[in-house]
Amino acid sequence: MIDLQKELNRCILCGSCKAFCPTHLLKHTEPFGPRGRMRLIQAIHAGELPPSQAAADRVFSCLLCGACLKQCSAGVDIMEALYQARGLLRAADSKGRTLRWTIKAALKRPDLSSRLYRLIRPVVRPLLHRMGLPDTPLQGYTLRETGTVFSPPDGISKGRVVLFTGCSVNYIHPHLGESLIRVMNALGYEVVLPKREVCCGAPLRGLGLIDEARGFAYRNLEALRGLKADALISLCPTCVVTLKEGYRRMTGEGIDAVDAVGFLSGRTGLGAVLDAKAAYHDPCHALYGLDQYDEPRDLLKRVGLDVVDIGTGCCGLAGTFSLRFKALSEEMLRERAGGFGDSGAEIMVTSCPGCLFQLSKAVPPEKVFHLIEVVEEALLR
Ligand code: SF4
Ligand code: SF4
Repeated sequence: MIDLQKELNRCILCGSCKAFCPTHLLKHTEPFGPRGRMRLIQAIHAGELPPSQAAADRVFSCLLCGACLKQCSAGVDIMEALYQARGLLRAADSKGRTLRWTIKAALKRPDLSSRLYRLIRPVVRPLLHRMGLPDTPLQGYTLRETGTVFSPPDGISKGRVVLFTGCSVNYIHPHLGESLIRVMNALGYEVVLPKREVCCGAPLRGLGLIDEARGFAYRNLEALRGLKADALISLCPTCVVTLKEGYRRMTGEGIDAVDAVGFLSGRTGLGAVLDAKAAYHDPCHALYGLDQYDEPRDLLKRVGLDVVDIGTGCCGLAGTFSLRFKALSEEMLRERAGGFGDSGAEIMVTSCPGCLFQLSKAVPPEKVFHLIEVVEEALLR
């Protein structure tokens, strides 16, 4: 944890971070940019302003995308300040109470919650819409139900990787995990799914539930510490950034994880067998958290795709942002979908299950792929 006051004092209010902030670029007002948010947090932390719903609305309107972080020449740890401020403003944020309660309850017993939700979904769907809560399309099975150890078909493995499934792959997109398992097996790796893995904690941390998120971090540190493997892989950049950086901030110990792009980038075995025009959408946490830009594009080119440029930008999901700030979220999504439409690309590829889910709302779902699906198609067709 940082010393929040010390960190905020480093901000010289220069405003150079504003030009890179997606919410500021849309709203053009100080409270919707990083400088305004830093100043607001400073005032609340110093007791100049009381914590209020209005202040919480400004601080929770941040996407936690990280685009501002590297633009600050004063080196303010903007992200950590934003996380800690969410913790401070939680009590004043009555608008987020239902969401926090629901997510906390769901993550306490996720398997039970997902089974219950699958049962009652048709009935509660209209109610969820009215309450602004997510209607999550859970699958009829979870990835972790399909097994724990997956060996290459010939039984000979040159190494072992641990797959941190994460909630979105386990419950919403298990087919992506199955795709990664087939890719790894084809490359000669045995894949192990950790039995005691829990949510990475990112949704809790983003809601200001820092102690609860830290509790999940300790459980994962315990579950993953003893596992012997060449790499710990996740298909979700948010999980990777949380395991690596978030855990270091919250517990002092990070986990050395890598996303599928990072793992596959340095490896051979891919041929240029596909032929299509593809647009790549950068997930914020891959672009700003893992510093990936060329790697996914190079991978797509290696499998034969013609990669067209659609620029960068948030898809608008950003955890619970899309539920609280619907209009802004939809505007961001429209921009990404418009960029894809104008580019002449036949498919849109990303490397985050959350972005995949969000983009599929505005782009025909049969045209949107996670990068692992593209790699599988190239490797196993
Ligand atoms: S994390 Fe993203 S949305 Fe939040 S202040 Fe920084 S650039 Fe803006
Ligand atoms: S956070 Fe950094 S870049 Fe933004 S206003 Fe403060 S000092 Fe300037």
